[in-house]
Amino acid sequence: MFWYDEQRMDGWLAELKQCEAQIGELRARQGVLINELSKRDIAQRQGARTIVEWVESTLDMSRSVASDLVFGMRWFGRFRSIEHRFVEGLASFDRAIATLRLAQTGADLQVVKSSEQLDLHNVARLCGRQRRMTRRDERRAFTERFCMAQPTLDESSWKIAAQLPGFEGRVFAKALQDRADEFRRLPGGEESTRAQRQADALVAMANDSLDRTGDATETAGPAVAVFVNLDEANTSGGETGAEIEYGPRVGPNTIESLLCTGSVQVIGLEDGRPVVTSDSAKAIPQAVRRFVAWRDGGCTIDACQSRYRLQPHHIRERRHGGAHDPGNLTTLCWYHHHVAIHGNGFQIDPDSPRGRRRLSRPRTGPDPPDRQATYPVTINRNNQ
Ligand SMILES: [Zn+2]
Ligand SMILES: [Zn+2]
Repeated sequence: MFWYDEQRMDGWLAELKQCEAQIGELRARQGVLINELSKRDIAQRQGARTIVEWVESTLDMSRSVASDLVFGMRWFGRFRSIEHRFVEGLASFDRAIATLRLAQTGADLQVVKSSEQLDLHNVARLCGRQRRMTRRDERRAFTERFCMAQPTLDESSWKIAAQLPGFEGRVFAKALQDRADEFRRLPGGEESTRAQRQADALVAMANDSLDRTGDATETAGPAVAVFVNLDEANTSGGETGAEIEYGPRVGPNTIESLLCTGSVQVIGLEDGRPVVTSDSAKAIPQAVRRFVAWRDGGCTIDACQSRYRLQPHHIRERRHGGAHDPGNLTTLCWYHHHVAIHGNGFQIDPDSPRGRRRLSRPRTGPDPPDRQATYPVTINRNNQ
């Protein structure tokens, strides 16, 4: 490296730190302005529940930054020495807020001073240890609880955010982890990440709530209509997805899973008008469902003992012409059905014994040409 390059790097570094100092100054000014607006009940006037919520939406910033700003605005005045270090540029905005939070717990001066030797993560830990929980603090943690589930614009996925008081948060986290740990490893040592398994666990908990007969054999899933744009579907090998009558756009995997579990009617559209309805997508007849459940007596995947939300699955998928006859059906638990097969793309090895089914490797991307179907359900124009 040449000397002038090192000089340039020094310059960049200095500028980088300077930028941070400027951000700090701007944050301090924002704090002053928010304080003035807050005194005039800006949040209430504009229909926000709290000042943090108002800052979050007005400045389009994350909740944590908004709450740091509001916290700073409330507490700097009472801890002038911390404010001073910040204003003098001796502490970054984040450092000042962390120190302020520590001081606000009631930690003595010596402890606050010693926190200068720690990184921010450890200041936060120290803060947790110093915290004296008053009735008021407890009350605040309780009132600030929330849980929101929000779909993306096309409802192809949902974001869930929540904040719970300490104890309830622990209960939730424990239940979620325990549930996630119940989900077994997938073949080939491939395991979903912890976060993915926790997402599965959350869905399983929601299912339980909707259907409190948890381990009973599911009789029929949702009766839904699926709308398919035929022009799109036929040119894309069924990879475009479809719309469900009550909103979300779903892909071929979800439709296949619906076809296994519920009664689905597929409606083909041309120019926005229904031209064909599918006859082939009728639900598995009740008697066949019951027979299969009785015959299998539980999840048929080798060594799986789960009886959780047992469902019939088509070994040869519906879209590849798999029929509803008992020979093509096998009973699976919710995890193997929704997560392993329809979610991760594993398939039942058709050569595995009936009561000891094996899964074969997931397929990625569109079907190979010899297995390609026009759509998850074969729509026959003649069977209107
Ligand atoms: Zn299935
Ligand atoms: Zn299973």
